[in-house]
Amino acid sequence: MNGMRARYCVSALGCLTGLLLASETLVAQDHWIDAYREPARRLIEESTSTRFAWERLAELGDTFGHRLSGSKSLEAAIQWAAEQMKKDGLENVRLEPVKVPHWVRGAESLELTSPGRHTLVMLGLGNSVGTPVAGIEAEVIVVRSFADLRGRATEAQGRIVLYNVPFTNYGETVQYRADGPSRAASVGAIAALVRSVGPPGLRTPHTGALRYAERSPQIPAAAISTEDADRLQRMQDRGTVVRVRLKMEAKFLPDADSFNVVGEVRGRELPDEVVVVGGHFDSWDVGTGSTDDGGGCVVTWEALRLMKKLSLRPRRTVRVVLWTNEENGLRGALAYRDRYRDELPNHVLMLESDSGVFRPNGFGFSGSDAGRLRINEIARLLAGIGADRIGASGEGADIGPSVQAGHIPALSLEVDGNYFLLHHTPADTVDKIDAADMARAAAAVAVMAYVVADMPERLK
Ligand SMILES: [Zn+2]
Repeated sequence: MNGMRARYCVSALGCLTGLLLASETLVAQDHWIDAYREPARRLIEESTSTRFAWERLAELGDTFGHRLSGSKSLEAAIQWAAEQMKKDGLENVRLEPVKVPHWVRGAESLELTSPGRHTLVMLGLGNSVGTPVAGIEAEVIVVRSFADLRGRATEAQGRIVLYNVPFTNYGETVQYRADGPSRAASVGAIAALVRSVGPPGLRTPHTGALRYAERSPQIPAAAISTEDADRLQRMQDRGTVVRVRLKMEAKFLPDADSFNVVGEVRGRELPDEVVVVGGHFDSWDVGTGSTDDGGGCVVTWEALRLMKKLSLRPRRTVRVVLWTNEENGLRGALAYRDRYRDELPNHVLMLESDSGVFRPNGFGFSGSDAGRLRINEIARLLAGIGADRIGASGEGADIGPSVQAGHIPALSLEVDGNYFLLHHTPADTVDKIDAADMARAAAAVAVMAYVVADMPERLK
């Protein structure tokens, strides 16, 4: 633009005026973000021209299977991830010890015993106690809400309560899984069943953690498929007395050793200022945890691999953290906050991906208005891959404790996909994920992390 104007100068004075005008134009138009158009283009190009992220996620799931806290498969996968990070050329790759709860499912079953005998598809809820060896057999009372349970409290006594509450959104429906068992116990129920927290989907049960209240007896609890919940509802509505036998071997073993996996690209000017990206590496013990949250781990890790591959070293440090034990304890997130408590003021941004790695549409952001302005400017670099929308709030279970303790700006990757259809089910496997979408998700995280880590002024 400068050169074009100067080329038409016909006199020394005219030429000087032209140059001055041109430099003013340059100041007006050369926005800080312009310096990032080329690196962003390269990051997107590198990510979307291969299937690397998807292949890595497939290898993780195929090789190690599920990654429940306390399992050998999680620990083997953690060692593998650290080795792979070193091969990628990441710096300061380390395993940070975390003691995690060690819940094991054991054998389990649910049988309709009257009228007739039929096997029901079930998954015990994480953290549940088991049943006696012979199981628990009782009549089922189906309720549609906590209010419904309160109204029928005397009926629940000595029975198995089934919460048949259709999925609306996770935040709203998950309370029946988390708190339902203790609420049922508080009115005398001897076991609890929960309609799976997810949309209907081919008779697939969804596990997930329950949370026992301190004052209620601990009763065993399991999820059943939406189809079977509706079936038991219909039978109750017809006046049929339904009896089931629940058998669960679930129990806790002593806490186990685990680790958060950490790797970095050290900053070239301000290495002590850190942009953290990551997901949780543990999963439930069904499926391979590819959507929840192996994919989130791989796309955030990709941000660093892509920077190394392209020799892009930002001004500040970018750190990937694969947190352990999000699903049934959050111990990895808490350990990170405690280990880095003194350094939280140097955390510029924390970004989590834990909503799946389907087609990315942008990020949720929590932070100041000035920070939002910058994040919106950066997001425009992602318009070409459709990931330029910035939503009202950014959050994640694993970044949460540190974000709150350090008042750190937070981003979460947002995607268009049916996460809650797969979430915590045996169907959570890599084949549900599209390689091109995942590459775009990795590119979006890489551009966001790189620009925030490199931009001249710190994100406010
Ligand atoms: Zn998750």
